[in-house]
Amino acid sequence: MSATEPAHAAPLALLGATRAELCARAAPLPGGRGLAEALHRRAFREGRFEPESALPSAQAAAWREALAFHLPRVVRRERESTSTGMLEKAVLADERGLEYECVRIPMGRGRESICLSTQVGCSMACRFCETGLLGRLRQLRAAEIVGQVVLARTQLGWQPTQVVFMGMGEPLDNTAELIQALHVLTDRAGLGFARERLTVCTIGRREGLAALHALGWKRLNLAISLNAADDAQRAELMPATKALPLLELQELLISYRPRANFRLGLHWCLIPGRNDTRDDARRLAAWCSPLGRVLVQVIPYNPGTQPLTRAPSEEEITRFVSWLREEGLAVRRRLTKGREVMAACGQLGNAGLRGRERGR
Ligand code: SF4
Repeated sequence: MSATEPAHAAPLALLGATRAELCARAAPLPGGRGLAEALHRRAFREGRFEPESALPSAQAAAWREALAFHLPRVVRRERESTSTGMLEKAVLADERGLEYECVRIPMGRGRESICLSTQVGCSMACRFCETGLLGRLRQLRAAEIVGQVVLARTQLGWQPTQVVFMGMGEPLDNTAELIQALHVLTDRAGLGFARERLTVCTIGRREGLAALHALGWKRLNLAISLNAADDAQRAELMPATKALPLLELQELLISYRPRANFRLGLHWCLIPGRNDTRDDARRLAAWCSPLGRVLVQVIPYNPGTQPLTRAPSEEEITRFVSWLREEGLAVRRRLTKGREVMAACGQLGNAGLRGRERGR
């Protein structure tokens, strides 16, 4: 993006741009850089784009031609009270009416996460995941990914302190837009999230991991949705993982480490009868051993509209967690939140949308 770009260039999506990118585009426009900074501030802090408030309408029109500003429409909000506060899911619609979702997750002690979607649907087809049933309907652009945060702050009353890319979609199946969104979210002149407040969660994709690594961001968090430490078992649960066998994924992760004390997140959706045995725990520990510091997050399976099986019992969860600890792994058990409103892990993407899209 540069000031030498032709006047007829496609409008720049305001919420998908850093302030520096916006200022470069705005140089030839009335009001120039100074106005660009003011409009940028207002867009990110207040969720508005109103060049008319600063310029006569003919000049404001030039800004409207050069920039696109759009916040998603809120279709509905659903809440569930949890032990750490009120969880809320917002169902949003894009300009075509396709729905995607973001979730406010209260973490206690004043912290809250926002779980963002990067795609409408997902083509990875993980068998324990509602989003996977949709297939991939479209990629979200960086402005739509960031737009979820701006909307949350300015219209939903959420105050996210951290951002997790664990909503609808595989972030590394939309890597370019994800990376642009990371730049915008961490832009100090805009939302200003510290890099350690961001976590990308992926099933593990070669090119995407290379692109994240190439960013050279030492403090960006990474989590791998692992769920099995055996290739055949993993492919059964997550068919798309056939493209990157566990041994190769392990090698990539060994060379990924962006800093000496980096702690890799490993997510294990605990599914009764599928990945909850003593052998599963042993295999996981063996696979982790060359990786350095890891934290295994055990996430109890949340049944969706076409459940693979039931949710694990408390006893099964506790038993698996203790086996992992016996194997010497650092483990955290994820508290189940949002299951009642289909906002828990693996439950995003509603059956209504699935039906509508099939009918198109
Ligand atoms: S778990 Fe993640 S990668 Fe797998 S289908 Fe669901 S959204 Fe896609």
